[in-house]
Amino acid sequence: MAASPNWLNLDHVWLPYAQMATAPLPLPVVGAAGVRLQLADGRELIDGISSWWTACHGYNHPHIVEAIQRQAAQLSHVMFGGLAHEPAYTLAARLAALLPGDLDHVFFSESGSVSVEIALKMALQYWRNLGQPQRRGVLAFREGYHGDTFMAMAVTDPAVGMHAAFQGIVPSASFAALPRDDDTTAALDALLEREAPQLAAVIVEPLVQGAGGFRLHDAATLARIRAACDRHNLLLIADEIMTGFGRTGTLFACAQAGVVPDIVCLSKALSGGTLPLAATVARSPVFDAFLGTEFERALMHGPTYMANALACAAANASLDLFEREPRLQQVAAIEAQLARELAPCRALPGVVDVRVKGALGVVELAGPTAGLRPAFVERGVWLRPFGNVVYVMPPFVIAADDLTRITAAVCAEVAMWAEERPTEGARDVV
Ligand SMILES: *Cc1c(COP(=O)(O)O)cnc(C)c1O
Repeated sequence: MAASPNWLNLDHVWLPYAQMATAPLPLPVVGAAGVRLQLADGRELIDGISSWWTACHGYNHPHIVEAIQRQAAQLSHVMFGGLAHEPAYTLAARLAALLPGDLDHVFFSESGSVSVEIALKMALQYWRNLGQPQRRGVLAFREGYHGDTFMAMAVTDPAVGMHAAFQGIVPSASFAALPRDDDTTAALDALLEREAPQLAAVIVEPLVQGAGGFRLHDAATLARIRAACDRHNLLLIADEIMTGFGRTGTLFACAQAGVVPDIVCLSKALSGGTLPLAATVARSPVFDAFLGTEFERALMHGPTYMANALACAAANASLDLFEREPRLQQVAAIEAQLARELAPCRALPGVVDVRVKGALGVVELAGPTAGLRPAFVERGVWLRPFGNVVYVMPPFVIAADDLTRITAAVCAEVAMWAEERPTEGARDVV
């Protein structure tokens, strides 16, 4: 194996979700194309997690690369206050057309967590503007994850989020179990009966709770949440940051339940995995509550790099690909293949559950997956299991034989893990 490149050390870079005292050196990547990552020492890895679920078209898709290059030659960025550029206005109109109902008003930002902050700010100020400033609370669901900034942490299940140290500092939210059956639906109703007058909104990751452990719920559960919000007069925020853009089999997960949220958050695959971009999109009644003659009614937010022109050009090119290429059919094929090829894991000792939804496959183990990451690299695939789950979220363009290499690696490593069963040790995080 070749020596690692001379720039690669941990003298100055602070890594994400890492104990820097013990963190292994990250793998140096010098290029990527399609579903393959090229490492500095010449090895190639098949990517099974789409770079934190962003690279839905694979890496370096020529159509997106060309759109970014063309935009860079013309205009990379201008401030969004007082100045306008075509890629952002076109993208906003396209998102409004793709999203259900009257989700027509698009506020851009640069990361998922910030889009959640903006959604919560919108919800709280919506009620303030309607003369109900006491509605300041938010209800979220157990096992949910909504980001790493402070209000996003507040609505993330503290048992799931990596923010136990900040309890008492982050604002507190209410947590409920997802209304999966009659009992949990009744419990949610009882909680809302008590708390609704002080609540502004309910926030949920539709159909799949991601970083909290990739737990699934069905469309009926999501529809019950919408109905509960209607009964108790609460705004519904759908965090589609992970589910948006095809991952669950439809362009947006909410569509499978026929649910129109009042506010939706988008990011991750929005730019096809190329540039940081996010959007918070509101229905007309939410937007209208900010209109008026008094300036205080307006939304006071404006990230410096909001609606970056390169990112918007990339997002428009990504949407072109959803129109021109059979992405949702590819997701359906991946879903069938994952279900087929991960099923044998069910019989292994130490496997608690195997579940598949769209282009997401999960093998949940009875204990921490620590130690599995380097084993997958040895097998030529890039996966990043965490907590008790090994999950696969490939780019939608993955070929069947490449996906088989990933699922075969998962089955083989899980079988070995089941035999050795590490009972304790460091838990890997997202
Ligand atoms: C990743 C994610 C976020 C946070 O997005 P960042 O861009 O990492 O800030 C929020 N919600 C969900 C559901 C996510 O998957």
